[in-house]
Amino acid sequence: MSSFDFCARHNSSVGKKTELKQLNLCDQCARELSSKAFNGNSPVKTGEEIRAQCQFCLEEKPVRPRFWQLCTTCSRVVEGYGISKAGVNYLISRWTELRKLHRHLQDIELKITDPVKPMSYRQHLSASRSKKVEPDLTAICRKNDQKLFLIEVKTGPNAIQDMKEFQLDIGDCKHILRFFKRYRLPTYVFHVQVVREQETIKPKDAWWVDVFEMHKYCKDIRGRPKEYRAAAYYDPSMFRHISEFPTESKFLSQEVKRRAEQEIPRLIGIQGSNPRIKLF
Ligand SMILES: [Zn+2]
Ligand SMILES: [Zn+2]
Repeated sequence: MSSFDFCARHNSSVGKKTELKQLNLCDQCARELSSKAFNGNSPVKTGEEIRAQCQFCLEEKPVRPRFWQLCTTCSRVVEGYGISKAGVNYLISRWTELRKLHRHLQDIELKITDPVKPMSYRQHLSASRSKKVEPDLTAICRKNDQKLFLIEVKTGPNAIQDMKEFQLDIGDCKHILRFFKRYRLPTYVFHVQVVREQETIKPKDAWWVDVFEMHKYCKDIRGRPKEYRAAAYYDPSMFRHISEFPTESKFLSQEVKRRAEQEIPRLIGIQGSNPRIKLF
């Protein structure tokens, strides 16, 4: 095994470029990532303690910069843990505000149903083949524990109005359809803008779309640059701002509920789409 292309999350030589990835972590999160994501591999380098945001639990506390050698894929995945958490937490706190403004939402809670779980590369592969997929968030009525609607959260550094296109991996489309078919409930995709200012992860704003609307805005399906995975590309105008979410006239209506019970959203819907990509 040559050491220059060793990836701690693969726990093997990967035969491609690796990088020394810096993560500012508190002691507890460093231990958790080390054992769950990095196969017990300790950081190759650890810096001086500073007071900053931990990039995994997102708390402001004493952290140390710690470095692991990772392939570019694993580097992106690991960096995404904190960003995904920030996105989900942001939606929950915005929802709490919205509940105060709109009486009809008072009894509806958003629960995390697919929490961020650090995993090694191998564990991730077998987990992604599992049929038991869950949405990121599930809205539940506090009075009777009934599930009302589902939310899948995507994060990115840009605001919707600054995007030329919105990209959704075909793997994500399949994931959404899997949990949709399992629950048959109204389902929304949220884009949360999450930026990194210096070393701090900051959520900024959020937008949403009903999954039944998405295929109308699908412009293209193509391979992601430098990767084998394909993605669907959407006109970002399909999204509306989070402030409009609970005030929408159809929200929580019987009509929307019935549609989810009777139809399946297409998600991608362009003429001449790549015949190799099958969602069903
Ligand atoms: Zn932490
Ligand atoms: Zn890797």
